[in-house]
Amino acid sequence: MAALPTSAVIGVIGAGAMGAGIAQVAAQAGHSVVLHDNQPGAAKAGIDNIRRQLEKRVAKGKMTQGDVDNIIARLQPADAINALADSRLVIEAIVENLEIKRQVFAQLEALCSPDTLLASNTSSLSITSIAANLERPERMAGLHFFNPAPVMKLVEVVSGLATTNEVADTLYATASTWGKVAVHASSTPGFIVNRVARPFYAEGLRLLQEGASDAATIDALLRQAGGFRMGPFELMDLIGHDVNYAVTRSVFDAYYGDTRFKPSLVQQALVEAGRLGRKSGQGFYSYHEHSAKPQPAISGPVQAELPPLVVQGEPGVIAPLLERAQEAGIEVVRRESLQQDGTARLYLGDLVLALSDGRCAAERAVNEGLEALVLFDLCLDYRSASAIALAASHMTSPEAHQLATAFFQRLGMDVTWLTDTPGLVVLRTVTMLANEAADAVLQGVCSAQDGDLAMQAGVNYPRGPLAWADSLGLPFVHRTLTHLQQSYGEERYRSSFLLRRNALSEESFHE
Ligand code: NAD
Repeated sequence: MAALPTSAVIGVIGAGAMGAGIAQVAAQAGHSVVLHDNQPGAAKAGIDNIRRQLEKRVAKGKMTQGDVDNIIARLQPADAINALADSRLVIEAIVENLEIKRQVFAQLEALCSPDTLLASNTSSLSITSIAANLERPERMAGLHFFNPAPVMKLVEVVSGLATTNEVADTLYATASTWGKVAVHASSTPGFIVNRVARPFYAEGLRLLQEGASDAATIDALLRQAGGFRMGPFELMDLIGHDVNYAVTRSVFDAYYGDTRFKPSLVQQALVEAGRLGRKSGQGFYSYHEHSAKPQPAISGPVQAELPPLVVQGEPGVIAPLLERAQEAGIEVVRRESLQQDGTARLYLGDLVLALSDGRCAAERAVNEGLEALVLFDLCLDYRSASAIALAASHMTSPEAHQLATAFFQRLGMDVTWLTDTPGLVVLRTVTMLANEAADAVLQGVCSAQDGDLAMQAGVNYPRGPLAWADSLGLPFVHRTLTHLQQSYGEERYRSSFLLRRNALSEESFHE
């Protein structure tokens, strides 16, 4: 389907943070844009602000003054909604209120031509519901930009029950020509990103609540081992706990209390205390002048004579860790394994090291008849990760702890000991993200490809959760989730049926 030509006039309603940004994107792409706000003067103020933002780019040499003048000349402010009558597409970005949005779309329907496309930038309302009373609901869709719209790449093109494929495809093509990464989503709570991202915050909050470690350490692990740009606590502090908690609550309520989306009492307490994050000066961290950022809990240097590392079984995803060990001068000895579950055990003398599989170390040590067992966490890239989380079974001696610490330190990694927690930090977070993405695919919210693309372009994940799950092997991901579910006895960790089916039928999410 072809994109709207640049000759098509774009109408934008609401000249706040999002509306002004969207108007700028459309004008930069070459469209004439009418920006309307019902507060007198707000549309003009919005355009003045766009000019100021663009002129900062001129000062940095990224744009010429001529470019800015051309873009601003294409933007026309309007205090009256009638000015939108000739628009080919109208994008609404007003207050997040269903009744008000419905009224505005009813006005637009009366005003614009029958083939004008109508779009809402809503984050949390149902497109089906906004469109329900329209005479032609089939031409209405969601066009969900992220904040700030001129910078953030992702646009979710959201189809309601009545939206035609033709409308969704035209919006998809148009957003793409505007330089955005467009994905298709069906109108379900949270669409793609606000749904699939929930476990990133939720698992961090649970790990903290259960005393696995502190916020600074969990953040550091997700950055340095998981490859995420920010950890969950620093990110929630940036988003604002009021906003993040409200999104979680609305998704939880919308899915009729599915425990996978259960809000956290830890976050509720921050909201109650007014500790909203950066904007209030205090969240998980303090942002007051002179307050030092807490440092992650890292083991001090340990010197120990390292025996050869004996590898039993197929290394699979941890193969790069073994290469790194060899390069660090550690002798690596391979041994055949009778175990057929695809997981390798590493031996340093009597100490067993293994990648977590969702069981806590105590349970696994008992199940497998091991005495000294240290579990290590998943890393995005074992060759370059600069930190790793470890957890030991209750029978592991202090000397064995030291040996495990010395081993990973020899590889140049910061070593963090967690209390014995199922799934550790990165593995647990990544498997739950993949699980949520799989369920979204199962329920027809998005394709696997768009799900991954959305999480990379919308929230900067280092890898799409489903591609990540593919690379770990779906049987392993499914087993990890099953172990988490058994560990907690909670529905929350149940494996998505699609993940289970793909694991059993040896299919991956991506070809
Ligand atoms: P905002 O408060 O910054 O701006 C809203 C603007 O709409 C205001 O200028 C207001 O005067 C105007 N307005 C309100 N009612 C109006 C009406 N009936 N007619 C015309 N103008 C009207 O809000 P925002 O943050 O830009 O959010 C706008 C929409 O975008 C909401 O639906 C929100 O859910 C969605 N959204 C917000 C973000 C975000 O991070 N802020 C991200 C994605 C989507």
